[in-house]
Amino acid sequence: MRAVALLLLCPLAAALTGRFWHLTDLHWDPDYDAAASGGQVCPSGGSRAVPAAGPWGSYLCDAPWRLLASAVRAMSSRLQQPDFVLWTGDDTPHVPNEKLGEEKVLYIIKNLTTLIKEAFPDTKVYAAMGNHDFHPKNQFPGKEHRIYNRTAELWHPWLNDASLPLFRAGAFYSEKLPSPSVRGRMVVLNTNLYYDKNEVTAGEEDPGGQFQWLEETLSNASRADERVYIVGHVPPGFFEKKRHKHWFRSGFNEQYLKIVQKHHRVIAAQFFGHHHMDSFRMFYNDRGSPISVMFVAPGVTPWKTTLPGVNNGANNPGIRVIDYDVDTLEVLDMVTYYLNLTRANMVASTQEEELPTWEEEYRLTEAFQVPDGSARSMQTVLERISEDPRYLQQYYEFNSVRYDLSPCEEACRVDHVCAIREVDFTKYNECVKTGSSASAVISGWFLLFCLLLGLLSPLRML
Ligand SMILES: [Zn+2]
Repeated sequence: MRAVALLLLCPLAAALTGRFWHLTDLHWDPDYDAAASGGQVCPSGGSRAVPAAGPWGSYLCDAPWRLLASAVRAMSSRLQQPDFVLWTGDDTPHVPNEKLGEEKVLYIIKNLTTLIKEAFPDTKVYAAMGNHDFHPKNQFPGKEHRIYNRTAELWHPWLNDASLPLFRAGAFYSEKLPSPSVRGRMVVLNTNLYYDKNEVTAGEEDPGGQFQWLEETLSNASRADERVYIVGHVPPGFFEKKRHKHWFRSGFNEQYLKIVQKHHRVIAAQFFGHHHMDSFRMFYNDRGSPISVMFVAPGVTPWKTTLPGVNNGANNPGIRVIDYDVDTLEVLDMVTYYLNLTRANMVASTQEEELPTWEEEYRLTEAFQVPDGSARSMQTVLERISEDPRYLQQYYEFNSVRYDLSPCEEACRVDHVCAIREVDFTKYNECVKTGSSASAVISGWFLLFCLLLGLLSPLRML
């Protein structure tokens, strides 16, 4: 009887679960050449020497085409018919502005658009612009621009007619999710407008009117009984790999946080990129209860950051599938797949034509022993990371997609836990201060303990 009941229930349960891909930070380096004998392997490597460059890429370079093609191929072979794909930007290589230009930037966006479109011809793709998808990079205006117009043309098959004028005016838009979701809405933001390296929007209150539009969009969604995903490239809050490093200007960070706090009931989750690292951010109400979570997905480019003060900031290429409840948009689970770049290059050196294997890296619910990816569950994940060194180490290895396997000790714990917990600038500073002083107190006590042991040891000899 029970088996029959389960069989009857299973199709129902399956019908309620949808799946989509999240792909971010492709950073194609069109001039990557592993075989450049004596010359430059990749412009994105700058003046760094690039030893051990392989056909699938190098940790010191942005992605060669064949790495990107293999990522997209791995996606379509694992899940050919996702409900939709999120593509959160950064397409061009890390090179100085003078090496790119408007046409080159658009050429790169066009090629990657074609790559994704060919792999998922019948799938809706929600694409967001990254800070590198402009010329000069980061300088996005809050008004109409040629690059917005041309990108809108490239993405036309994915954008609804109603989204087109909005996209041309500021590169943000909102659309109802495709079936099977009936109450779902996607809100794609251009948070490059809030980036502190963006000089064009520096003095503005609300560049492009995006904050006002976001408030209206979320209010309308609430009235229509919809649930929303917010998607963008540059996230608010802090970078977990470098203490005190944030991306948004302070005022913009505050405004974003306020909107999430006010409208959290309609926001089912947030999906961002830019870090190249795998992490998440928590949002709380005034009473300290978790109200929303932002997932920051790992990048496809393995490029080691040149940001001063970041130690060992590279990653293995990663892609991610999200299971969600099509009715509530609640995140049910998340599986991250990755390419072990060192191994892929090693295999390639012995077997010429072999395609590299993108392996499952981890499943969120299994790795952290939580029922789903809701804000409440992610708060449990945060507590586990914060309190249990085994979970901290596991999270830390996932953070770089298993590139950096060195131990994450106390200062590292504070950096990661405070970045996950505090998107607010003032609260982050307090967290880092108390976290650090707590560890200073612990090490002080530890020193005293050792000293006493040292004093007592002659007595023990007696
Ligand atoms: Zn970026």
